[in-house]
Amino acid sequence: MNMVARNRDDDMQDAKPKFIFTCQGCGQCCEKGVAIYLSDIERWSKDGTVYQVFPNLTVSVESVPLSLHLERENGKCKMYDLDSKKCKIYENRPLSCRAYPLRHDGTGFLLRDEGCPGLNKGEMSRETLEEIRKDAIEEHEAEVHTAAVLPTIQALLLSDMAKKSEEAYSKLTDEEKARLDEILKKEK
Ligand code: SF4
Ligand code: SF4
Repeated sequence: MNMVARNRDDDMQDAKPKFIFTCQGCGQCCEKGVAIYLSDIERWSKDGTVYQVFPNLTVSVESVPLSLHLERENGKCKMYDLDSKKCKIYENRPLSCRAYPLRHDGTGFLLRDEGCPGLNKGEMSRETLEEIRKDAIEEHEAEVHTAAVLPTIQALLLSDMAKKSEEAYSKLTDEEKARLDEILKKEK
């Protein structure tokens, strides 16, 4: 990945920004995995998008830390409308899609996709540059927050499930317990 515009002030003083980008609407970025953060879900809960997005959300429990993603179908994000070739939730799209193809790693800006056809196309106003940088910083903060909070939520849910299972088991008769133990042995 290329390092771009490490120093925010230097870059803003340049006559021409180093990062020039105009989205071409090609949908190439919608073919890659889309990370979803808790702040996306919080925003979607407020604006109602949550009902559209939730059935298409998936949790990667194998990954460390635990992560959330939008599912894909036929090689595209499920929020991509194949007929109109547009994002169905464009106005409320996830933070990682807003900042694309820029990202921030906590110390500086990076290009996440050097092959994005929008790079070095068109004019880049200072306002647009500021906006995309703001989105990239916000995405990074959301990523850090989600990575810190999700495993705790998972641990709480698992511990709650374990407690409920224990309670349910204690209410079984000896005969039911023996039957359940037999079933569990067969499952192993
Ligand atoms: S961000 Fe880049 S890859 Fe995505 S639609 Fe725009 S031009 Fe295409
Ligand atoms: S949410 Fe929208 S912009 Fe983001 S990858 Fe999916 S279709 Fe593309």
